[in-house]
Amino acid sequence: MSGKPLVVLDPGHGGRSPGAVSRSGLREKEINMAICLAVYQALEGLAEVLLTRQGDENVTLVQRAALANAARADCFVSVHCNSSVDRRARGTETFCFPGSAAGRRLAVLLQQQLVRSLYLPDRGVKTARFAVLRQTRMPAALVEVAFLSNTVEEELLRDQAVRQKAGRALARGIGEFLGL
Ligand SMILES: [Zn+2]
Repeated sequence: MSGKPLVVLDPGHGGRSPGAVSRSGLREKEINMAICLAVYQALEGLAEVLLTRQGDENVTLVQRAALANAARADCFVSVHCNSSVDRRARGTETFCFPGSAAGRRLAVLLQQQLVRSLYLPDRGVKTARFAVLRQTRMPAALVEVAFLSNTVEEELLRDQAVRQKAGRALARGIGEFLGL
């Protein structure tokens, strides 16, 4: 036992599931993983961190939640990029499970840090009964960092420096949540 809190990071999609794909072919699963690796690095030494997938693998939503539950994680953060048929849709939003006060607190901190760091429109914290939020037994949040369907935000998501920045912002939010 290290005594450090345990964070489970969930890079959305993977393997046969690319997630959203931009018009130029940028795949959400790769961006999600790059951002999660940046969170991982930023939390090194402060928290124990587990990823729900190590690379470009197929992992079901049930498996992702089960991993976090079995590990008795202190919090669960799922990382995604958004997409809309409305190509003008922009900004950052974060989801928590309805009725979870701790989940909402985590979501608010993550959303604040992302908005302060990336300066994208603040779409706020919302609730959803997404499987990874419903099936995890610890405070959980799902971030939608920016829209792959918007040309301006797609360019940002393509940029490794922006991914790093998003990852560091999420790590700050997690750190605040855990009192690190
Ligand atoms: Zn996604």
